[in-house]
Amino acid sequence: MPEGDTILRAAQALHRVLAGHVVTRFDSAYPSVTRVAEDHPIVGRTVESVSARGKHLLMAFSGGFVLRTHMRMNGSWHLYRPGVRWQRPAREMRVLVATADAVAVGFNVPIAELLSPGQIARHKEMTALGPDLLAGAGERFEYGVDVAEIVRRMRARGHDPIAEVLLNQRVAAGIGNVFKSEILFVAGVDPFTPAASLSDADLERLVAIARDLLAASVLDRSKTLTRSIGRRTTRSLDPNATLWVYSRGGKPCRRCGAIIRSKKTGLDARLTYWCPRCQSAGG
Ligand SMILES: [Zn+2]
Repeated sequence: MPEGDTILRAAQALHRVLAGHVVTRFDSAYPSVTRVAEDHPIVGRTVESVSARGKHLLMAFSGGFVLRTHMRMNGSWHLYRPGVRWQRPAREMRVLVATADAVAVGFNVPIAELLSPGQIARHKEMTALGPDLLAGAGERFEYGVDVAEIVRRMRARGHDPIAEVLLNQRVAAGIGNVFKSEILFVAGVDPFTPAASLSDADLERLVAIARDLLAASVLDRSKTLTRSIGRRTTRSLDPNATLWVYSRGGKPCRRCGAIIRSKKTGLDARLTYWCPRCQSAGG
């Protein structure tokens, strides 16, 4: 599942190639998108920017129109030179934006909307999002994250286990299931600890760890825009040892040797992984 770092990486790659260039072709498999583009043609407009807001990717065109896409589980953006054969079948194309030099294709992107500036300001899902953990994470990673606001939102979910709170995009935008388990391992916090029983300092530390792991993963650029290759939290150079606990149930902890545990949690039964010895804090 693409997480905030993957979306930001995709947005940065698309921005580098498309921003400042005039759209020569715009297409979508979604009638709701093509209908808006028929009334307000995107061809001929300039791509002004491509940015990430949590897990949403926003492509802004001159004249104020914004293409919002969300990858959910299987969506991805690819960049091609014109005329180059795509790596996925054309029937999986959901959105296409081309300039003279590049073709950006959104494959299996389950959500795509072409919005006016007024619509995006009022957009329910976007305005409900918590502060973006990767806000301001440009080339130099000067953070603009509102940590106090995230901690306030964590406290408001005080009865929920901290693992669920980290995943809640209304608390902070950007953490997916992989990073959820990894952040809690690095922090040494038991995933099932209610958020309310952690101190402000503990919560601030979790936010800092989340930010650092996500940002490091953005810097770890990979060629394919939205594949999860390159996601690592351990700093190990061994490609088979990039994560501490995620997807390692039943295997020994890389730090202490205890057996990593896993459990389905939350409404959609996502797996949480943790080391019972390293993560005893907070319980
Ligand atoms: Zn351990």
